Amino acid sequence: AIVMVALSGCVNNTSQMTSTQGLYTAQVDSLISLMTLEEKVGQLNLYAGSWEFTGPVPKDINNQKKFENIKSGKVGAMLNVITADGTREAQKLAVEHSRLGIPLLFGYDVIHGYKTMMPIPIGQAASWDAEVARSGAQIAAKEASASGINWTFAPMMDIARDARWGRMMESAGEDPFLASYMSKAWIEGYQGNDMSDEATIAACAKHFAAYGFAEAGRDYNTVDISMQTLYNMVLPPFKAASEAGVATFMNSFNEIGGVPANGSELLQRQLLKGAWKYQNGFVVSDWGSIGEMITHGYAADTLEAGYKALTAGSDMDMEAHVYENSIEELVADGKISEDILNDAVRRILTVKYQLGLFDDPYLYCDADREKTDLLTKENLQVAREAAKKSIVLLKNENNLLPLSKEGQSIAIIGSLASDKDVPLGSWRAQAVENSAVSLLEGVKNAVTDQSNVQFASGYTLTKGRRQFIYELEFVSGDRSGFSKAIALAKKADVVVLAMGEDCWQTGEGRSQTDIGLKGDQMELMNELLKANKKIVVTLMNGRSLAIPKLDEKIPAILEVWHLGSEAGNAIADVLFGDYNPSGKLPVSFPRNVGQCPIYYNHKNGGRPATNPHDAGMVFWSHYTDSPNSPLYPFGYGLSYTTFEYGDLSLSSSEMNPDGTITASINVKNTGKMIGQETVQLYIRDYVGSVTRPVKELKGFENITLNPGEEREVLFTINNETLSYYRADLSFGSEPGRFAVMIGGDSQKTLTTDFRLVD
Ligand code: BGC
Repeated sequence: AIVMVALSGCVNNTSQMTSTQGLYTAQVDSLISLMTLEEKVGQLNLYAGSWEFTGPVPKDINNQKKFENIKSGKVGAMLNVITADGTREAQKLAVEHSRLGIPLLFGYDVIHGYKTMMPIPIGQAASWDAEVARSGAQIAAKEASASGINWTFAPMMDIARDARWGRMMESAGEDPFLASYMSKAWIEGYQGNDMSDEATIAACAKHFAAYGFAEAGRDYNTVDISMQTLYNMVLPPFKAASEAGVATFMNSFNEIGGVPANGSELLQRQLLKGAWKYQNGFVVSDWGSIGEMITHGYAADTLEAGYKALTAGSDMDMEAHVYENSIEELVADGKISEDILNDAVRRILTVKYQLGLFDDPYLYCDADREKTDLLTKENLQVAREAAKKSIVLLKNENNLLPLSKEGQSIAIIGSLASDKDVPLGSWRAQAVENSAVSLLEGVKNAVTDQSNVQFASGYTLTKGRRQFIYELEFVSGDRSGFSKAIALAKKADVVVLAMGEDCWQTGEGRSQTDIGLKGDQMELMNELLKANKKIVVTLMNGRSLAIPKLDEKIPAILEVWHLGSEAGNAIADVLFGDYNPSGKLPVSFPRNVGQCPIYYNHKNGGRPATNPHDAGMVFWSHYTDSPNSPLYPFGYGLSYTTFEYGDLSLSSSEMNPDGTITASINVKNTGKMIGQETVQLYIRDYVGSVTRPVKELKGFENITLNPGEEREVLFTINNETLSYYRADLSFGSEPGRFAVMIGGDSQKTLTTDFRLVD
């Protein structure tokens, strides 16, 4: 059998979905012609309901001003108002009291599920599977929309190279090709073919742009990157999202090239709304970020911030209250043309029409559906599928895994193993606290005799308040749980040790300088190893971790991220071999924090990262106390079976720009189990008018092979595959020699090359 992969087709299969979202030009224009200046500015304001502001809307005094503003048409959208009753109440204020009755949008951070939690985005990205992203987003949209939410602030498509940055968990990792692929599928899942369907919602491509490049991985810090990195690494997923018809964009907190993203004409006017022809969706600011232009030192006051942001193309103001205090005056004084304001209003109203809100403003507030459609068995089943496909097998010495469900006595150790909350992850929307299936429960559900499963928590990771908005307090130096854990390990046939991060160690505002395992985990691990060598570690985390000692000492390691509602069951599926692990890392795992940022698609440099000299010479790009290479590379992940790659060949040794070349490779399952492999294609452009990365992912294909089965996988390479944004920012290819590398991860590849001729 032959698998054909058209490289552009691989990420383009959702592009037709926008055509079905109408433009409503006549309706929008006629509505705008009826609007006063004040009402137009009103559409640009996005207000937050407080977390307590959930239905029915409390009538407390602090919210009175907001209520009055909604009633007088001064608010276009709300965020963080949840429940069908809450959104209905708020919608009523707009629709029944304001002069024109324009309905509100209701936005919320539905990032990886609403009540039914899917794996965190970085975990989903490890599946390299659009269906995982699409089906999860579809369910999230169905659940959130029942509660009145019609707009999610997802997907986040920031490239994340630095594990110190807490929001790595919310990303699709370090590679623009994979991030484009996953983001398109997320958008398709949220928006469907028709946003006016009651079970689909508007998506938001964020954060535009380069938010993931915060210096030293410290959230909200300055970004200072080259135009090449911006165009070739950061922007591709956003361009793909625009082409996929994403309803909205969110800009970012950071400055870029000295200009806060809200004020970036380059990003918003020239690229997004210009070159990319993004004509119908709108750009929302991030929380308060238009006001932060003053703190950045880019605007002197509210008036200047409002002027700069709207002129540059930020259409909606999230909670900075800058637009409501500046735009009327700026337009009245002739400083901002009414055309610019009208364009922003047009975009916002278009999305409201596309969502069907003018036909039925309460379409999404469905208290009945809220009772029946949330956290259903079917939704949980999808969550379990997604979760097992997100797991990455990092190490499996002597085939310690899979475990047997019968007879073996299994010691489950680690407080993360019994934790029913951590697996829900950061950015968990309305997940019920402690509602995940724990690892311990999952294992007990799977084995034939539960009495063979014993548990000891061993370490305690955190104490005190554990919540979205609070800092965590870590526990260290508490060995009180060690002796029970060691005793269990001594008696057990095998130990499953849960290690990792609390879910609130990752997410927004949670950058760390230490990316190892906190508290007493490593100490316990070392003690357990003295009692039993057969230890399987399951790593629950939201970022790539520096775990060289684990890799050195532990025979089997599973990366299980924060897997969501069905975490424990999915982990058990893999532990016992009901599912053969197929995930591949979407980020490089460093050996130590000093290597950060570490990523596979780096430049070669003039003194490359492999020592050209004999040992002992220091003048090459390296560390004197650490290898350059990552612990686990991008694209890496093992299986319970083995795959052998052979016979890499090209259809020709030369290609001209209007032709194609086909690369073919044979992949064989040489082990004993059926398994899925992600066959990855990387390209290197050896010489460019600006220097090019040592390799870049340009295609992949997931294939499932029976034991002994062999398959030829074909990749079609065309001019676009070889093109990039050059020094003058034109997109194109350049003649010369290109390497073609194909393999099961970014390091272990077979390599050949060809020439692109004029
Ligand atoms: C985050 C956004 C999020 C917004 C609304 C901000 O702090 O950066 O990603 O969508 O808050 O909650």
